[in-house]
Amino acid sequence: MRIFTVIYIFLLLYVIAALLFWGFSLQKQSLRIYQQEQLLLKEQVDSVKSPQTYFTRLKQLNKTRESRRKQYLGEGTTFLLVILIGAAVVYTSIRRSIRLSRQQNNFMLSVTHELKSPIAGIKLSMQTMQKHHLTEAQQAQLLNRCVVETDRLNELCNNMLIASQMEGRHYNTAKEIFNFTDLVSSSVQDYINRYPGRINESINNNELNVNGDRMLLQMAVNNLLENAIKYSPADKPINVKLFSKNGIITFHVADQGAGVPDNEKKKIFDKFYRVGNEDTRKTKGTGLGLYLTCKIMGQHRGKISVKDNIPNGSLFEICLPQIIVRNHSIA
Ligand code: ADP
Repeated sequence: MRIFTVIYIFLLLYVIAALLFWGFSLQKQSLRIYQQEQLLLKEQVDSVKSPQTYFTRLKQLNKTRESRRKQYLGEGTTFLLVILIGAAVVYTSIRRSIRLSRQQNNFMLSVTHELKSPIAGIKLSMQTMQKHHLTEAQQAQLLNRCVVETDRLNELCNNMLIASQMEGRHYNTAKEIFNFTDLVSSSVQDYINRYPGRINESINNNELNVNGDRMLLQMAVNNLLENAIKYSPADKPINVKLFSKNGIITFHVADQGAGVPDNEKKKIFDKFYRVGNEDTRKTKGTGLGLYLTCKIMGQHRGKISVKDNIPNGSLFEICLPQIIVRNHSIA
């Protein structure tokens, strides 16, 4: 990327220098023309004998020279502006496509890992059950591991599928009014069962209704819970809250992991974006979760935000408009 920027800036400076050079050459040429025209005028009209004619024609020559100068300056400035605007557009689009192709490459690397590791885990558990006579408790443990790995595969496939459908605008949201508290409670309970002792929940038991696509909102909630588990140490609690204030429902997930640096807070919502690079990163993922969550919020007139958690870690929040249902009528 750096070498591309250097070559690009060099070429741009060369074009600008060439333009300035041609500008100065034209001005010089214009001066020479003016001097020639003055000489010609002196030969044609005697300034002593007919001063009036001489000065009128000289004034005309000056006027022509001035308008030529203005024309060169105007055309040169327009040309320079067009070059600068074009260069800025080309530069940002090339940078964007280089970044996207790098992220896509990272995505391919991580997706391969994400697909292979649950498959390897499931295979190992199966082979262990096949080769050894295990107790019922041991079998249950291995089966549980298979279920967890299958869930991971399922989540990954869903994320990829929905991301590509949303990208191509082929996904039709199936919106309905439903109890968001139920959805969040059952998701959080599922994570508490899968990761015992890691999540503290404070979920308002009131019925908080939203108008939305259950499957998409479930994905958004799961993505935040999954990330909090993935990006924070196992001995630090994760606090999850659901509440409503002034007609806005907030689902809040605070972890005590490494947090998200300020300069990455916007970028983590980009497609395939992951903090760090594939060589140094310990956790695996695809960089699709937050991108999708952000898109889902956009489709529900909602918002997603990330802040620093106190004392450390990150705090992700999704906000959705609450729907008030009174006597089967909707306010
Ligand atoms: P994935 O987790 O598959 O990489 P996401 O889109 O969910 O993709 O997240 C994008 C990036 O944001 C992650 O790679 C990670 O670097 C950062 N991130 C997300 N959630 C957290 C969190 N709770 N704490 C710290 N970093 C996070």
